[in-house]
Amino acid sequence: GRRFDVVVIGGGAGGLSAAAGLLRRRPGLSVAIVEPSSDHFYQPGWTLVGGGVFTAKQTCRAEARLIPGGAEWIRTRVERILPDENRVVVADGGALSYSVLIVAAGIVLNWGGIPGLEEALGRNGVTSNYRYDLAPYTWQLVQGLSRGTALFTQPPMPIKCAGAPQKALYLSCDEWRRRGVLDSISVGFDTCTPALFGVPAFVPALMNYIRDYGVDLHLGSRLVAVDGARRVATFEREGGAVKVEREYDMLHVVPPQVAPAFVRDSGIADDSGFVAVNPATLQHNTYKNIYALGDIAGTGNAKTAAAARKQAPVVALNVLATLAGKNPVYAYDGYGGCPLTVERGKIVLAEFGYGGKLMPTLPKWILDGTKPTRLAWFLKKDVMPRLYWEMLKGHEFMVKPEKLAS
Ligand code: FAD
Repeated sequence: GRRFDVVVIGGGAGGLSAAAGLLRRRPGLSVAIVEPSSDHFYQPGWTLVGGGVFTAKQTCRAEARLIPGGAEWIRTRVERILPDENRVVVADGGALSYSVLIVAAGIVLNWGGIPGLEEALGRNGVTSNYRYDLAPYTWQLVQGLSRGTALFTQPPMPIKCAGAPQKALYLSCDEWRRRGVLDSISVGFDTCTPALFGVPAFVPALMNYIRDYGVDLHLGSRLVAVDGARRVATFEREGGAVKVEREYDMLHVVPPQVAPAFVRDSGIADDSGFVAVNPATLQHNTYKNIYALGDIAGTGNAKTAAAARKQAPVVALNVLATLAGKNPVYAYDGYGGCPLTVERGKIVLAEFGYGGKLMPTLPKWILDGTKPTRLAWFLKKDVMPRLYWEMLKGHEFMVKPEKLAS
């Protein structure tokens, strides 16, 4: 097979940013990006597509235009990682050899994990902002509903952007309130998690909205089946002790999420299936020439593009150290961000690191992330998309990786 200094698995948020960051620092490096998809999606924008603020098209760009100059795009998928041979096997059976491997293959949406869901999606009122083609359907359903029952669900952790299930809930309720029909709609939110949000500081502001919108909140409740024809969703509550069937007119589902099988079975994953890397250096615990970033990393941060933004420069710098035969010197602090769209025009901007430590970017007197603010909505709608597309080119605005404490 062909050989590269660096092979990157996945041309998503993490893979492209790390590759671009590497090539900016070391233009001559031979870098391969293995990515099967010809489209790249700005997934954080899908919440606003489902809320009628963005069009779907605004969240999609051709992958070919985003591959950083100097990198080679290998347009196929990786089937196996052979960490002891420093090789990956791709779909046509060919192999690529590497000095350093960066795993950035993201997380898999397991639609099949809920019986009846796949068949029901996109019809009969069943939708999800977690799919490019379905986010517009969310908005269509919201606009079409004036009475009846609307249910929103959240699967067990880990998921990408753990706030996104309730973002869909709030933006829908806000639209119904504006139209004066919210009182005629019975709205439910069933989440598998034990709390509305993992970091307590943000819960009071969110609970205010749950109360104001009149949402029937069920914590520790799991969607276990969907009957699209009858429009019935089945939930297990109280650890499976109680089974509840509910009829709906609209059902917004976020599917359970798992590590990709080819990573789980590769010998580089931890028990959860995600890549076993050091939470600070993002270097693999045993294979020192393997790194991971983004949703596939087995680290305790919030799985968000905001995290990938902070991880990418750390990976780029540490990979260069590894290529030079040295130990990694830079550390990722666990930062992740989740802009909770509590209403059209306002956001609770949750920014936090490992262990739920609050890590606001702006001083509190400018933006208090624990409160709904218009400034955060402006950032989400007008600033973050631009920041994202620039990040993919290796621009590292407001990111200054810290040296590892020795
Ligand atoms: P991705 O960007 O998903 O990229 C993974 C890439 O790997 C894909 O292109 C895929 O095709 C490729 N791949 C998969 N398998 C293989 C293989 N076998 N071989 C080669 N390539 C492969 N984040 C935020 O920061 N803020 C938000 O507000 C926010 N909201 C979100 C809302 C929604 C509805 C969703 C779905 C996500 C949201 N996110 C948000 C999360 C964010 O999109 C992800 O955390 C981010 O994209 C992770 O980057 P990644 O590179 O790990 O994965």
